[in-house]
Amino acid sequence: METLKKNEIKTGQVLDLTHEGHGVVKIDRYPIFVPNALINETIEYKIIKVKKNFAIGKLLNVIVESDSRVEPPCVYYDKCGGCQLQHMTYQAQLTMKKEQVINLFHRKGSFNDTVIHDTVGMEDPWRYRNKSQIPIGLNNDKKPKMGFYRQRSHDIIDMDSCLIQDEKHQQVMNDVKQLISELNISVYNEKTKKGLLRHLVVRTGHYTNQMMIILVTNGKAFKQANQLVEALVKLHPNVTSIKQNINDAHSNVIMGRKSITLYGTDEIEDKLSEITFNISDQSFYQINSHQTEKLYNQALEYAQLTGNEIVLDTYCGIGTIGLYMAGKSKHVYGVEVVPSAIKDAEENATINQLENTTFVCGKAEEVILKWKAEGIRPDVVMVDPPRKGCDETFIKTLLELNPKRIVYISCNPSTQQRDAQLLSQQYDLKEITPVDMFPQTTHIETVALFERK
Ligand code: SAH
Repeated sequence: METLKKNEIKTGQVLDLTHEGHGVVKIDRYPIFVPNALINETIEYKIIKVKKNFAIGKLLNVIVESDSRVEPPCVYYDKCGGCQLQHMTYQAQLTMKKEQVINLFHRKGSFNDTVIHDTVGMEDPWRYRNKSQIPIGLNNDKKPKMGFYRQRSHDIIDMDSCLIQDEKHQQVMNDVKQLISELNISVYNEKTKKGLLRHLVVRTGHYTNQMMIILVTNGKAFKQANQLVEALVKLHPNVTSIKQNINDAHSNVIMGRKSITLYGTDEIEDKLSEITFNISDQSFYQINSHQTEKLYNQALEYAQLTGNEIVLDTYCGIGTIGLYMAGKSKHVYGVEVVPSAIKDAEENATINQLENTTFVCGKAEEVILKWKAEGIRPDVVMVDPPRKGCDETFIKTLLELNPKRIVYISCNPSTQQRDAQLLSQQYDLKEITPVDMFPQTTHIETVALFERK
């Protein structure tokens, strides 16, 4: 094969897309990954990095354009790392996500009999985020800047509008930016580790419109807190809760463990279908409420409950899935590692008068062993782990418990595929439905049904 050199300019046809949405061009069998190039396009590109097994190219020119190419509507799209797929039609995004799942389970895995459905998309795939986490920094002229991180960096891009966030959150962001200057509030600097305000987090209940504003600070002392709160309440009279979260750890973690309520309630309320949920600042809550209902309804359909089942809701967060299923089962046991989420889950069970539920705080892999020892024998197990998937002991215990059905929700199909291999000794992976929880981005969410052989 010819040896490629940096800065060389080439033309080629895009054969495939990577899971990051980058176009794949090949010279002989050697792949070159070109961001922003679409499948079937003929492109001109410049080699910017050459490695042993692959190279990276920069798109210079699209010679033959794909029908799936659109003008990205966001003006920050080239710089911001938040979205990756705005240059594709929404239909092409949905198809790409389904293809990735097919690739993982049919081509790379041994699940050829598994039915993989079309990705369930949104009618209007914009402004869907009910939670915004916005870093705060200073511009060269020492004025505050707020926005999102540049791709693969911690450089903040100052922006006044983001098309996937709730519009109200934008207004709060712009007001906080203004108030930082007016009230002379110091801003945290990642390099010197000095300065106070680090992040603004805003969460809004999709159905209730209740809004929580969280000001993340480096340390507790916050002398302008009252003035800032007063001004924010005046500008946003329907804000339900304002909190200060203290994070003095010099890491990438956005929130610290301790929060103080500066105004209003400790939690906000939201609804999914007929169930009401209390959500505290530290708890996980699905960020796309439109799609969450579709995801949970699909999970419920897969669970095939008749009212007599013992159900485990593992990695349960604030108990959303378990409570969704409690009305249709005999008893639901939930487990989650974050204490405040379990507190929310218990409160949520009480608010909704779903007394056939038990929530336990702990690691799923440990609590499931304890349940087994107590003689709990589930009929259906819901599994919804973080990106890294399940612990091996968890899967092992799950196989010993041998429930009739396992419904596995995943935000990372590659770890789901790994776990599915372990489950496949005893279970058939019947179906997978991808649900688009994060339009315009490469993130894929799936729900899978396993049935005992
Ligand atoms: N099922 C919930 C939450 C899913 S997100 C919902 O749909 O809203 C995954 C959850 O797993 C998070 O709440 C996280 O705190 C929790 N988690 C992470 N590791 C865990 C572990 N080892 N044991 C139990 N829960 C864990």
